[in-house]
Amino acid sequence: MNIIGRAGWGARAPRSVTSVPWSKRERVDVHYSAGPPTQTVRQIQNFHMDNRDWSDIGYNFAVDVGGRIYECRGWTVLGAHIAGHNTGGIGIVFIGRDQDVTTAAMRSIRWLCDEADRKAGRRLKRDGHRDLAATACPGDRLHRWVHTGMPVDEPVKPSPSPPAGRPAPKPAVAFPLPRDHYFGPAAGPDRSVSGHHGRRFGTKSDREWLQEWTRQLQRRGWSIGKGKRWLREHGADGRYGDEYRALIRAWQADQKLPVTGRLDRAGWDAAYRNPIT
Ligand SMILES: [Zn+2]
Repeated sequence: MNIIGRAGWGARAPRSVTSVPWSKRERVDVHYSAGPPTQTVRQIQNFHMDNRDWSDIGYNFAVDVGGRIYECRGWTVLGAHIAGHNTGGIGIVFIGRDQDVTTAAMRSIRWLCDEADRKAGRRLKRDGHRDLAATACPGDRLHRWVHTGMPVDEPVKPSPSPPAGRPAPKPAVAFPLPRDHYFGPAAGPDRSVSGHHGRRFGTKSDREWLQEWTRQLQRRGWSIGKGKRWLREHGADGRYGDEYRALIRAWQADQKLPVTGRLDRAGWDAAYRNPIT
């Protein structure tokens, strides 16, 4: 994993720095910012320096919803994140609220904890801010996760792909939407079927149809699902969004179709008719 250094997020210089030797580190303390995930590290730093009059951003590291890791005070500088416990604790903040937590963020927090163990040369305790002070921080989801051993998805394993050139897996499923309709954004016109409104087409709902097509791509060897190459965050839920758009665009490019990000009849049929690529 890559840590974005202070220069990388435009950090202001700290007013003062107090070092803590690794021998005094005992824990990694997990926090959340409890604000919108769009908040930047620099905004948090400004708040801590200008409103709280601290010497720097209070945390040692920050992690955003995309799993990006930002160096704040770093490993061995005294933080300001839990009063009375900052010498022993390395503070990691997730930028967002309870409902914003992502697998990518958890994976990065877990990596930082493991990295702290490696650097300390021993196992550090993991806890949430609320274990040491009266606060809701780091939210119920992260707190529970910390105390169930911080599980993260298994690393992506390459699944054996069917060899290229083989015929598409059977049975073929006909395009289920009316002429001129396509699977696309919820914000689109009526013919843009998103899976967000529970519309039915024949025997299945819109979501089920999009899931059906997704399964065909999986049968063709595409790495799709939570923690995998495509639909990594939300999985194959049949609800059109950024992840489905990315998948459909990749499929269209693979099939040399116009790359629109909308799944129309041509993109649908290609999955059932064209040989495996
Ligand atoms: Zn906290």
